[in-house]
Amino acid sequence: MIYRPVGSTGMSASIIGLGMEHLDNKPYETVESVINAALEREINIFDLFMPGETVRRNIGKALNGKRDKVLIQGHIGSTDINQQYDISRDPKIIRKYFEDLLLFLNTDYIDFGMLFFIDSEKDFTDVFEGDTLNYALELKKQGRIRALGASSHNPAIAKKVVETGLVDLLMFSINPAFDMASANTYVLDYLGGTGMNYEKNLDPDRAALYKLCEQKGIGITVMKTLAAGKLLSPEHTPFSRPLSVNQCIHYALTRPAAASALIGCSTPQQVYEAANYLDAGEDEKDYSAVIGEFQGNMKGSCVYCNHCLPCPSEINIANVNKYLDIAVLDENNIPPSVASHYRRLEHSAGECSTCGSCEERCPFSVPVIKNMKKAADLFGA
Ligand code: SF4
Ligand code: SF4
Repeated sequence: MIYRPVGSTGMSASIIGLGMEHLDNKPYETVESVINAALEREINIFDLFMPGETVRRNIGKALNGKRDKVLIQGHIGSTDINQQYDISRDPKIIRKYFEDLLLFLNTDYIDFGMLFFIDSEKDFTDVFEGDTLNYALELKKQGRIRALGASSHNPAIAKKVVETGLVDLLMFSINPAFDMASANTYVLDYLGGTGMNYEKNLDPDRAALYKLCEQKGIGITVMKTLAAGKLLSPEHTPFSRPLSVNQCIHYALTRPAAASALIGCSTPQQVYEAANYLDAGEDEKDYSAVIGEFQGNMKGSCVYCNHCLPCPSEINIANVNKYLDIAVLDENNIPPSVASHYRRLEHSAGECSTCGSCEERCPFSVPVIKNMKKAADLFGA
């Protein structure tokens, strides 16, 4: 397994994470087998938003004696009032459900306490100007959550959340289809069966959000990595062919700030399939040909796909471009974390021999040689 720091939290998560929603309403044996499969593959981040007592108790039981092996991402405001899954901003209710989460999991703390489902202006106001935030900050002060995060599907609202300076991480829906949706598309409607408008370009708001997170040291845990399976299906994919699990995971993990791609699994086999990403070759992970269908519209923008490799100077071109994209947001104030990531690259942009082979291979006409020069100038190597 590979682990990445989750922003500046001081915690590192496996790049493949377990989304647990498909364990709802499943027998204990299923929950236990999926959790054991995840632990066997050294997955250490589990997302648990489900409010139901039974599934929470089942997860707690399966984790008995193993709690310290996982980072739990638990949600503040996820409830099931009247036996129906619901979002609440009522302080008494959210407190009860969060206390129950600790109780049913038989733990004293949740690693990532997430302000739940902040998708609209009203959600933002209700949470950040209401009692939910105060309760979450109190939990953090008490050490009952180790870091404070938020979940969202809306790039404009997520940006507002990040700009409060109060959250340490963001759980956000990322996949190639959502990233190409037009700005007025609410992606959950697409998952619900309605059509989606495509700009046939990477949505600038989403791309800017990921860069902003990287700039501010906020880690992203990715949800909807497979768009609820739609990207794998010839019938539902918006592209001319389906993507594979490996390609979807690779797309998520190559976004700036991405720490872990969470995959919802209801069987051990699904866990193994997701974890097989670690053993996949570059050609199996390469998503450029699929999203490159829209290359005319994406000309010049790096999508971090690495299709341009191999580089004779062994430069990781995608990562140099990624750090450059963040550095140019404010050239006089490059975040130390980004400069440090750049310094840790085995080969710097200054080693570019201008051979041009990458530019011949790039499906998106990225001016790599120019970018390498700019990166070498900005980062000093
Ligand atoms: S330069 Fe082109 S091929 Fe290389 S990572 Fe960027 S988009 Fe992909
Ligand atoms: S032009 Fe530079 S970055 Fe591109 S393949 Fe050649 S040496 Fe590598």
